Amino acid sequence: MLNQTYIDMMSKKSVIRTLSEYAVARGKEIGYDNVFDYTLGNPSVPVPEQINETMIRLLQTKSSMELHGYSQSLGIPEVRQKVADSLNKRFGMDYTADHIFMTSAAAGALAHAFRLVTVPGDEILTFAPFFPEYHPYVDLSGAVLKVVPPDVPNFQINFEAFESMINEKTMAVMINTPNNPTGICYSTETLKKLAAMLTEKSKQYGHVIYLISDEPYREIVFEGTDSPYVSKFYDHTLSCYSYSKSMSLPGERIGYLAINPRCEGADKMAVMCGQISRGIGHNCPSSIMQLAIAENLELTSDMSVYETNMNILYKELTDLGFEVVKPGGTFYIFPKALEKDAVEFCNKAKKYDFIAVPADSFGCPGYIRIAYCISTDKVERSLEAIRKFVRENY
Ligand code: PLP
Repeated sequence: MLNQTYIDMMSKKSVIRTLSEYAVARGKEIGYDNVFDYTLGNPSVPVPEQINETMIRLLQTKSSMELHGYSQSLGIPEVRQKVADSLNKRFGMDYTADHIFMTSAAAGALAHAFRLVTVPGDEILTFAPFFPEYHPYVDLSGAVLKVVPPDVPNFQINFEAFESMINEKTMAVMINTPNNPTGICYSTETLKKLAAMLTEKSKQYGHVIYLISDEPYREIVFEGTDSPYVSKFYDHTLSCYSYSKSMSLPGERIGYLAINPRCEGADKMAVMCGQISRGIGHNCPSSIMQLAIAENLELTSDMSVYETNMNILYKELTDLGFEVVKPGGTFYIFPKALEKDAVEFCNKAKKYDFIAVPADSFGCPGYIRIAYCISTDKVERSLEAIRKFVRENY
C-alpha cells in the first residue's frame, strides 16, 4: 500500500516551486529575460573561483577513494577540526572537532537537530514568518511544529505571544537569522531576551529547551547590521549551517551541525547524529565537497550584488508606498501587499510579469516575498513593470 502521508503532501505543493514553474513556462512564451522572476532563493552569483581551483587540484592529486569514497560517518576528521577552528577564531567559541557533524547542507543539519532533542509528539516552536519547508522537515520527524505569530512590523520576536505558547511539551525553539523571508537579522537585544526566556522556561519545566539556529544566510549581512553569532547567547544551541548560499553551492549539499560545547548532552550529540543518519539516509556528505570547503572555509562568493539589489528595491517599494522593513541581510525583501489578499495581489502582478510569492505559507498572510538573487540589470528593468502594476491597480 502506498503511504498516504506523501500522497496528501502532493496536493500541497510548494507555492514557491509552483510560481517558479509558472515563471519558467512564461519565459518560454516571451523570453525568460522579460519575466521578472522573484520566486526562488537560488543564488545567482558564481561559486568562488578558488573552490573550482581547489576541486581541480584535488581531482588531480588525491586518490579516487579519498575523493569519491564514503567519508567517516561524522565527517572527515580534519575537516571537522578545521570547521571548529574557524568558528572559534571568528566567533570566540571553543568547539572541538567532536562538536562538529558534517551534513548534507542546512536541511540535513536540521533533520539531525530535530531528532537529537525531540521524540514524536514533542513540540518545536518557531516564529512567523518562517521558511515553509519547516513543515515537512519537522512534521516528518514526528515532532509538532508550532508557529508563534509575527512581530509586526519589525519582524524580530513577538515575545508576548512566544511566552503564551511555550509549554512543558516544548523541547526546542527554532530560529532563522538572517531570515528567509523577511531579510531581517535578530539583534543582540533580541537574542539576549530570547536566551533569558529559554533559561527561565527550561527551569520552570524542568528540562532544557534547546535552541536550533538555522543559519544558511549567516554570511549574507549588509553594511551596518547587528547580526551576532547566535550560539554565543545560549549554551544549549545547535547551529545548522550550509554553504548553499554563501558559496553558491546549493546543488552540492554541504554544511554542518555545530553543537555548543556547553549544551546539555554535547559530548554525545555528534555520535548520536551518526546513528540518526543511518535511519534517515542523510549520511556521508560528499567527500570531495568536504575537502574543497575545508580549504576555503572563510571564503564567500562575491555577494555584493545582493546588497545593491536590495537598495534599489527598497527605495522603489517605499517610493511606491509599500510598508516594508529594510533587510539587514539575505536576498529577500518582504513588503506588505497593497491589498489584504496577497495571493490575489500576486495573481494581478503576474499580468505584468512581476512574479513574487504570497507569504500565506510563510505564516504571514498579507505580505509577499521578493527573492532578488537575480542580476541588477533585471532588477532595474523590473521597476517599470512594478510601477505600472501599482499605478493601474491601486
Ligand atoms: N533554511 C532556510 C531558511 C532556507 O532558506 C533554506 C533554503 O533555501 C534551507 C534551510 C535549506 O538550505 P540547504 O539547501 O542548504 O539545505
